Amino acid sequence: MPEALLRGQTAIVTGGSSGIGAAVCLGLAAAGAAVAVNYRSDRDAAEALVARIAAAGGRAAALPADVSREEDVAALFRHTEARLGPPDIVVANAGLQRDAAIGEMTLAQWRTVLDSNLTGQWLCAREAVRAFRRRGPRPDLSRALGKILCMSSVHEVIPWAGHVNYAASKGGVAMMMRSLAQELAAERIRVNAIAPGAIRTPINRSAWETAEAEAKLLTLIPYGRVGEPEDIAKAAVWLASDESDYVTGITLTVDGGMTLYPGFQDNG
Ligand code: NAD
Repeated sequence: MPEALLRGQTAIVTGGSSGIGAAVCLGLAAAGAAVAVNYRSDRDAAEALVARIAAAGGRAAALPADVSREEDVAALFRHTEARLGPPDIVVANAGLQRDAAIGEMTLAQWRTVLDSNLTGQWLCAREAVRAFRRRGPRPDLSRALGKILCMSSVHEVIPWAGHVNYAASKGGVAMMMRSLAQELAAERIRVNAIAPGAIRTPINRSAWETAEAEAKLLTLIPYGRVGEPEDIAKAAVWLASDESDYVTGITLTVDGGMTLYPGFQDNG
């Protein structure tokens, strides 16, 4: 990762203590950014990541917040600014699943997923815009006033039986991201999303942890391998940097072809 790409910039990564978020923290730090590693409950994991970044010569801080809570998000931004400086990059990555068939899905399961995955991203995006405006342009650091990255999913387009809350939240993220991008482009705030396919993280452990489960999963992935968190981190660094300065309002799908309707491969 070229260190100069994000040198002098500060990033906030929500849900940064595990999986994709942790890889994104490491990727942004390797590109020179100071990183606020947000966690909800796993403080030890967040501190361990901060230590790893510091050992490699980077700057980072572990900061708690439940992104579904307005006051927590405000505090996360305040503490980031105090510890690492005002944010230039905000990666709204935190997300969760509460799976159930529709007949059994409780209102609490629906709300928990929408609150974290959609409202949480909206709260972070709003706070990011306020912070970018307060700080003003820094053309020495970036051509953009600020960059927002939303972690979506291939389920912003692929319907997902038994996961209607999750798919609805990611479909919502897609239109939230595009509407914000349209609203904010004239201010040079870029808003983009990444749609990961199947990435090897704790959120979907049951889908890859046995050889049998992984073989079944691979039938959905034309490229023939499960994704790794680093695949997403590389896309995040690009979208956060001036290398993608003319890119706003897109979902960058990183899925080994999962959205290419692999069921049609032998059936043309
Ligand atoms: P993960 O479970 O390892 O990480 C998610 C993190 O978000 C966890 O650390 C969790 O504590 C945190 N989190 C959840 N709700 C939160 C809240 N309200 N406040 C603060 N933190 C909260 O899983 P992951 O795979 O790394 O997921 C990261 C993102 O990527 C999620 O948005 C997920 O929907 C998305 N995604 C993952 C995959 C995949 O295959 N792993 C595919 C598509 C999209």
